Amino acid sequence: MYYGFDIGGTKIAFAVYDGALNLCHEERMSTPGDDYPGLQRLIHSRVMESDARFGTRGAVGIGFPGILNRQDRSIVAANLPAIHGRHLGADLATLLGRPVSVDNDANCFLWSEVHQGAAAGAESALGMTIGTGIGGAVYLAGKLIQGRNWLAGEIGHYPLPATILMMYPELPRPRCGCGRPVCFETYASGTGLERLYLHFHGERASGHQIVARVEAGEASALATLDCWLEILAAGLATAISVIDPEVVVLGGGLSGLPVLYEELPRRLPGHLLPGVALPAVRQARFGGAGGVRGAALLNL
Ligand SMILES: [Zn+2]
Repeated sequence: MYYGFDIGGTKIAFAVYDGALNLCHEERMSTPGDDYPGLQRLIHSRVMESDARFGTRGAVGIGFPGILNRQDRSIVAANLPAIHGRHLGADLATLLGRPVSVDNDANCFLWSEVHQGAAAGAESALGMTIGTGIGGAVYLAGKLIQGRNWLAGEIGHYPLPATILMMYPELPRPRCGCGRPVCFETYASGTGLERLYLHFHGERASGHQIVARVEAGEASALATLDCWLEILAAGLATAISVIDPEVVVLGGGLSGLPVLYEELPRRLPGHLLPGVALPAVRQARFGGAGGVRGAALLNL
């Protein structure tokens, strides 16, 4: 059996899969604030209960939003005080008496899609999650690629391609939460979509409202969507030029928009070298469950 925990800022998802990757159990719990011993107790209790229930010693994988310090494998997750700076994998391995795998949530998302998902059978894949921020992950030759600093696939924080600022010289140039100006994420994420709408319309609206206004044919909503799609295509093309993947898998809250799968393949060639065979651009199969499923499957 494979046990996965996806630790988020407010909720922890827990799920159990059998050897054929069927879902056998799932539940959600509140993240215990900055209480590291409390978080360990929570994970310990679920693992022990599941061992008893399924008559086995399950393999444990953990996903979280952040990176691992390559030197000492401590967690770097400024938004998760309960685990920031902690040696979560080693501490849980001691507590649970078994190896514990730990990886970031975008990597878990793509790992899940590689196994019976939208990237099944592909030799290479790029994952991109479009939510509050932009997450990314790289899969090559049968492995997730973390890189020397766990930075591989962190596509949200390269700068917006200059070609976009040539097309749209009046765009706002916000400073990202990471401290740098014009990060791709500040335009391409859900927050970025709202920022673009404010720019084109002069008034704030939520992502849902913007989508509704697109469907109603509102001119500034259509201009916002057009610019956002061009930004996504340009940013994706940068990653595609480095990785050259067979498949691009989109996840996160905005990945359900059908227009992405029509428009990105149409717009990508304008940002790539001539004659490049495009990767397939697919929606994630496992949706919101991808993170916890991928965490469970880290031990495959
Ligand atoms: Zn940034």
